[in-house]
Amino acid sequence: MCYSRLVECLCEKWDELSAGSISLFCKLPGIRKCDLDNEEEFQNMLLLAKSMGVQHVEVVVELKSGIVQSTSLGLVRVGVEEEIDALRRFCHHNEKVLLSASWANGITHVGQRFVGGAQEFRDVLCKYAIQCGFQFTYVKNETTRVTAVCAMREERGCLWAIHCRAQRANDFFYIKSFSDVHTCGTDVRTSKNPRVSSDLVSSTISEIVRDKPLTRPCDVVTILKRDYGLDVSYHVVWLAVEKAKASIHGDHSLSFDQLRWYSDAVMRYNPGSYVNIDYDASSQQFRRFFVSFAACISGFNSCRPLLFLDGTFLKGKYKGQLLAATAKDGNNGLFPVAFAVVDSETTANWSWFLHELGKVVDGNRQITFISDRNLGLLEAMPKVFPSAHHGYCLQHLKSNLRDRMKGIDNGFRDHLVSSLGDCAYEPTVVGFHEKLAKLKEEGKQRAHDFFKDLAPEHWANSYFRGMRYGEMTSNAAESFNNWIKEARNLPITQMVDTIRTQLMRQMSARRDQANKWNELICPTFEARLMDSFNHSRSWQVSKANENVFEVHSIPSVTVDVARRTCSCFKWQINGFPCDHAVVAIQKSRYNLNNCVEHYFHVQTYRGAYSGVIFPIPSVEKPSFDPMDFTIYPPTVKRPPGRPKKNRIPSRGEKLKQIRCGRCDKLGSHNRKSCKEPI
Ligand SMILES: [Zn+2]
Ligand SMILES: [Zn+2]
Ligand SMILES: [Zn+2]
Repeated sequence: MCYSRLVECLCEKWDELSAGSISLFCKLPGIRKCDLDNEEEFQNMLLLAKSMGVQHVEVVVELKSGIVQSTSLGLVRVGVEEEIDALRRFCHHNEKVLLSASWANGITHVGQRFVGGAQEFRDVLCKYAIQCGFQFTYVKNETTRVTAVCAMREERGCLWAIHCRAQRANDFFYIKSFSDVHTCGTDVRTSKNPRVSSDLVSSTISEIVRDKPLTRPCDVVTILKRDYGLDVSYHVVWLAVEKAKASIHGDHSLSFDQLRWYSDAVMRYNPGSYVNIDYDASSQQFRRFFVSFAACISGFNSCRPLLFLDGTFLKGKYKGQLLAATAKDGNNGLFPVAFAVVDSETTANWSWFLHELGKVVDGNRQITFISDRNLGLLEAMPKVFPSAHHGYCLQHLKSNLRDRMKGIDNGFRDHLVSSLGDCAYEPTVVGFHEKLAKLKEEGKQRAHDFFKDLAPEHWANSYFRGMRYGEMTSNAAESFNNWIKEARNLPITQMVDTIRTQLMRQMSARRDQANKWNELICPTFEARLMDSFNHSRSWQVSKANENVFEVHSIPSVTVDVARRTCSCFKWQINGFPCDHAVVAIQKSRYNLNNCVEHYFHVQTYRGAYSGVIFPIPSVEKPSFDPMDFTIYPPTVKRPPGRPKKNRIPSRGEKLKQIRCGRCDKLGSHNRKSCKEPI
């Protein structure tokens, strides 16, 4: 862009203009008037604007009779490479354009219009003053007129002043007079401006808080300094973060009522889903909520019939628990099927969860559940899923045993715990009883007690009748909890929808990924087959008949390809060919890929992700009307655990009282450590 071209453009646009009859000027922050009468002045202005980090310059076109038009130039369009080079010659530090740079362009000339009236003008004025680094005071501050002067007017006689007034006809604000030049000097410029209010910070950081609900005030302090060049006190930022959270994520207590709207929206945009809000009919208080999206319900049919169950704490104002049922896809990725919000991990709630789960999971499939030994699950499972098998999570068992063995030597305790693992993994009944007998003998009475009510059908491979696919722990469920960590801080409806968004993104990403796979078997398991192939290639194989082979490994084993068994038991337990099987299958008339269960095939994997979770637009969210039927937040019981006793202060010591953000009581606890019933 050059000067003559700019003038040409203007004259083309407005017929009454001609190159000789106009003069141009523009305003840059802190400079009264920047004349643009020739090429040199124009290029100087560009350099200056660039060095100030200004992205946008407003050029005023003046006729002899007065201001006719103003036009805007984006510097992006005008930016020429030589200018940047010219700058480097006299400035060696890296240029940094602050995000607040545009604030300095908020106020430019007399006649400028503010459609939002006094409020918009004040907001723009604050940002302008913050960015230009000066302070001002209001002489008049009314809804129809605002006058502000530089704070240094008295002390240094600074003449900077602005006056803005509403037009009767439309209530717009117009700048009536503007004396743009400070005579107060650079030494009073500051990056600590009292005009940086929590409201201003709140609106500035709302995008950040939207993406990361866990944004901490100290992070924001850093961001404001780094990206905006502002020094803001922690208290202002703390308040701003709270305000931003409230305006974005809404109120925690209203969120329970929003669930009704949300449930309808789920059914409308994701037909085939299952949602259930359970509330107390007389008190209209929320009790629990269950949701499973259509894409997850249908997708689970293409996953192994294996479900991991676990619960996790919620961290919002009303706390509570999230219960989840998670599967694994053909590539061993997490596949969340359903989740629920309940007040606590009680017997009744787990039993209810399982009943709800029974409505979305195909009852004809023989499901294997892996979970903690929760009483509610133990009671409800035979009723809801009569053909299901229930495996206990080995990790939970181990920590139970560790607790039971408290007080004995640590090294010996570790030995007992790892023996428990050996018992669980042992594939043969004989071997299992040998190992268990030894463990009981070593652990004495307490070990005997531990195994008394622990049926081996639920935890030992040698007795387990379901299909665990080698999954010994419910870690998958815990990974799900970890995956939704941030969302657990949100009000209930926002949390549910945040999880839905996460699911939607993940399903879409995996769908795209799987479309690029050319193999028949999913990559994780293709790699496992390749490993087996490398391990087993040196072994001799003898054929007994079409199906049965002897593999001369050490020790040697028998593989029955038709029955899909190996005498090392790994094929049966993992549901996936072991090293022996891989080498035997290659000697047989069978195809290796056909000997792998279809759940591990890429085609089945694609089936699991063929369903789509659709967005739920929040534009239709109804506003809260207290006269309508409403679901109220639950009465929160005292959370489990001993209530913390207050420490007795020593004589003369004063305890600093803080107000808890959750229960609003004065005391010595905060939102995180709050154990008050509300
Ligand atoms: Zn001043
Ligand atoms: Zn084997
Ligand atoms: Zn509290």
